[in-house]
Amino acid sequence: MKRAFLIKYGEIALKGKNRRIFEDVLVKRIRQALDSVDGTYKIERPRGRIFIEPETGMDELETIEALKCVFGIVAICPVIMVEDEGFEALAEHVVDFFGESFNDRSLTFKVDSRRSRKNYPLNSMELNADLGERLLMAYPQLKVDVHNPKVLVRVEVRDNISIYVREIPGPGGMPIGTNGSAQLLLSGGIDSPVAGYMIAKRGVTVHATYFHAPPYTSERARQKVEDLARILSRYLGSVTLHVVNFTDIQMTIYEKCPHDELTIIMRRYMMKIAEHFAKCDGDLGLVTGESIGQVASQTMQSLACTDAATSMPVYRPLIGFDKQEIVDVSERIGTYDTSILPYEDCCTIFVAKHPVTRPRIERILKSEENLYGVIEDLVTKAIEETDTVEIS
Ligand code: ATP
Ligand code: MG
Repeated sequence: MKRAFLIKYGEIALKGKNRRIFEDVLVKRIRQALDSVDGTYKIERPRGRIFIEPETGMDELETIEALKCVFGIVAICPVIMVEDEGFEALAEHVVDFFGESFNDRSLTFKVDSRRSRKNYPLNSMELNADLGERLLMAYPQLKVDVHNPKVLVRVEVRDNISIYVREIPGPGGMPIGTNGSAQLLLSGGIDSPVAGYMIAKRGVTVHATYFHAPPYTSERARQKVEDLARILSRYLGSVTLHVVNFTDIQMTIYEKCPHDELTIIMRRYMMKIAEHFAKCDGDLGLVTGESIGQVASQTMQSLACTDAATSMPVYRPLIGFDKQEIVDVSERIGTYDTSILPYEDCCTIFVAKHPVTRPRIERILKSEENLYGVIEDLVTKAIEETDTVEIS
């Protein structure tokens, strides 16, 4: 008997060459994820399926945890593969495997057999009935439910026979690297890490830019963002993080522009600098954690002014999320506890008491004229002095 994991993946609409690329990249991402797990394993790909066979010393739970972070995986099914040694032997395997998989057996179930080898002595209807009977005999608490069973016992007869009874949900989405790359504006807050997760889930490689304002923001605030990038790297693979010193730009905006427009103008300069790194990294767009109406700088009017600062598409995966929904995702992916640590963000140190909520781009551009002659060099300097780190 061999133990393995059958990997189920989605996006069935993909056809032909795209499907092949999807599968190749998925296998590559699985290998990368399993690098962090001790032990060796083999990956087999018979007929458009992916089987992972742990060979030596791989911890099952650890392996499953690692696979749960691989986008593109819809479900992870622990499976046993047995030789065909007659019905009695098969029935014993099915009963034992069911028993070890479920402690509480007050369950409904149904057996679903498939026979791709037609010379097997029982057809699939007979297999379903006979194996179902054996399970009922072994575990009298079980009940059959053919329409909506809690447990589907899958038996697939090929040269050997595979049996699985559990489907552990994966993250879904598409494997990273199948849909281009983007530059995430990553702060230490709750939202932007979730935005990075969401866009990566669609197969997009994520690079990131963080703006800090030393000495107004501390080294620990920077550390917090690096920690968030590290948590995200479980899903994203290694993350390139550009750490930009934004202090002089921010001070200059503070000195020369109306205070109620500070946040918008600051955000616009963040966009321009992130766009520079996006181009360096070969990205196709910018990503932020904004959602409509969350704060003054995220009204439709404010977002329009932010967009106007860049010629790149700006992706906002959280645009229609309520705060609680964002919090729920951040808890699930493990960024929440770090995000709520109380270190200051550069956006919180020079904020106006009454920021504009309906900025007009003409007014903003007019205010920005006050910066001309100074700001250009500061932007160039900030870019030149940016510290780029690779986080994994
Ligand atoms: P977050 O929780 O992501 O910080 P937020 O609700 O606090 O979001 P804002 O502070 O208004 O919202 O920021 C909006 C978006 O701008 C953030 O989601 C992020 O993408 C980007 N951003 C804000 N501050 C920074 C920063 N210091 N460095 C990089 N990006 C930032
Ligand atoms: Mg913030």
